[in-house]
Amino acid sequence: VEKFQKVLITGGAGFIGSNYVHYALNQHPTWEIVVIDKLTYAGNLDNLKDVSDRITFIQGDIANPEDVEKAVNGVDAILNFAAESHVDRSLRDPIPFIRTNIEGTLLLLEAARKHQVKRFLHVSTDEVYGDLVGSDRHSLESDPLAPRSPYAASKAGAEHLVFSYGISYGLDVVITRGSNTYGLYQYPEKIIPLFITNALESKSLPIYGDGSAVRDYLYVEDHCSGIDIVLHAGTSGHAYNLGARMEVNGIEVAKTILGLLDCPESLMQAVSDRPGHDYRYSVDPSATETLGWQRQWDFQRGMAQTVAWYKQNWDWWQAVKSKKVFQEHYNEWYNK
Ligand code: NAD
Repeated sequence: VEKFQKVLITGGAGFIGSNYVHYALNQHPTWEIVVIDKLTYAGNLDNLKDVSDRITFIQGDIANPEDVEKAVNGVDAILNFAAESHVDRSLRDPIPFIRTNIEGTLLLLEAARKHQVKRFLHVSTDEVYGDLVGSDRHSLESDPLAPRSPYAASKAGAEHLVFSYGISYGLDVVITRGSNTYGLYQYPEKIIPLFITNALESKSLPIYGDGSAVRDYLYVEDHCSGIDIVLHAGTSGHAYNLGARMEVNGIEVAKTILGLLDCPESLMQAVSDRPGHDYRYSVDPSATETLGWQRQWDFQRGMAQTVAWYKQNWDWWQAVKSKKVFQEHYNEWYNK
């Protein structure tokens, strides 16, 4: 018997949200799924095209109380994926990050309290832990939050509000802290789809500084299964790390992609480093594994799958990359 009947997925037209919608339709065919998405530059209805008749889609803003009221009415669980998600954009203009990531989460929490939603799952990030460079440890859920970019700070701020609603109002809340994620439908400003699509276009791959920054890359399907397990089995009031136990640096990412596409390594091009760049994130996912979660994809297999998808879906990413909102950011950011 399913725990939930009607589920609200915010940000469901984005990368991880749309992958989760597909995952949930498979895993929970009886769910009534409502998606609210503002369709910012990162939101794309093409990501939901094949399932559009199986969900209710609301174009709306989680930072707008009327839109939220409409979306939350009658649901028994909320999964909050909606966010401004790109660190580099947060360095250029932090304001929308505070509005969507903090104020938007607050409005969703308020609506959850009012409508007595059974469970609120907030999708957070390992970036809230800050930089682990110089240490060989892995972040634990009990570590203090030490965000260093406006993006990470906005995600940490949201987390504090989520926990406070658990404590102050008894709302059933859980948080996932996923590591850097990659896979199909990822907007090509993020490193992996940017490198893949640039390589497919025979363009250079911009590498920050010396390319030594390390991330614990997680394939999107594993991120989705982790969210699903925490939704169903996570202890109320707790956060859960999701990571692949695979640390990979920027140079290795570039070389893997160039290798899979038979492109020359001369396409790698050093560009000035990201200001305040965090050189290492790495989480310990043991707590989530205790719930029965196990990642299924390692980096090589996940990357082969992802590269194959971008090769087969040229139309999808060409449409995105040809838009002004993509090109403006790309040109201003890498040619400064
Ligand atoms: P994304 O940028 O691809 O998608 C975000 C979606 O949210 C878009 O569809 C966008 O239109 C929507 N959105 C933005 N502002 C909104 C608003 N005010 N109201 C309604 N919808 C709005 O991001 P993603 O990579 O899919 O990330 C999803 C979530 O996962 C985010 O909360 C992010 O912080 C978190 N996360 C991402 C990663 C990663 O590596 N991509 C890792 C860990 C956690």
